[in-house]
Amino acid sequence: MTQLPVVPNWFTVEQVSPTLTLIREPHTKPVLAANTWVIHGRDRDLFVDSGLGIASMRSCIPEFFDREPALVATHGHLDHLGGAHEFAEVWAHAAERIERPGRGSLVPGSLAHVLGAPDGIFGDGVLLDAVPEESYDWGAYELRPVVPTRELAEGDVIDLGDARWEVLHLPGHTPGSVAIFEPEQKLLFSGDVVYDDGTDMIDFLAESSPEDYQVTMRRLLELDVDTIMAGHGERFGRERLVELAERYLCRVGKPKTYAG
Ligand SMILES: [Zn+2]
Ligand SMILES: [Zn+2]
Repeated sequence: MTQLPVVPNWFTVEQVSPTLTLIREPHTKPVLAANTWVIHGRDRDLFVDSGLGIASMRSCIPEFFDREPALVATHGHLDHLGGAHEFAEVWAHAAERIERPGRGSLVPGSLAHVLGAPDGIFGDGVLLDAVPEESYDWGAYELRPVVPTRELAEGDVIDLGDARWEVLHLPGHTPGSVAIFEPEQKLLFSGDVVYDDGTDMIDFLAESSPEDYQVTMRRLLELDVDTIMAGHGERFGRERLVELAERYLCRVGKPKTYAG
């Protein structure tokens, strides 16, 4: 097994605004380097995704758990759902079936297998460049299944007291992918539905549907949104959203350029 260096701080924490924090895992390969967003509401805090679960958020950043937060799982991939078992409240779309076991690995070949992706798509080696502690066994990584405490559906509202977030069901990447949208501030948390990290959208997994993805992208083109906080990469504005959605709609069905 490859011996990886140990890093003392597994997570980076960036205070984006008084009401928004971004948590990242910088020692993962880009394909698994997801964003965990924390919306600090008046009445409750809301996590949007929960990282890989390699290190415990509850132990490493306990201040975020002082007021028991709820977790919106945008979808069931390991880089978004891995820490979900640490939350008392886990909200997800029923079509995502996040309670299914055995859908994660940090070994590229095994990950491609469990996700139904083409062989070699995630490269080789291990999908980390460090570990949080000496004894961490990345070969034994598993995505822990979680039973949702609330099933999210299109049109549901998540009321944090000072903002009302609308749930959008946006299938394509996965069947139960959701985003949350706040129409007054025109903010969208998009998960892996759309992001801007230099790679193409992932629509080639066993559960993906390019047909659904096209409908989703057309829907995003109609959305009155100013800022997109995505599941990967940096946040971006509506102009960039239009470029990304149109690029997807142009290339769908053509050979993919995604290289992990
Ligand atoms: Zn994903
Ligand atoms: Zn992801």
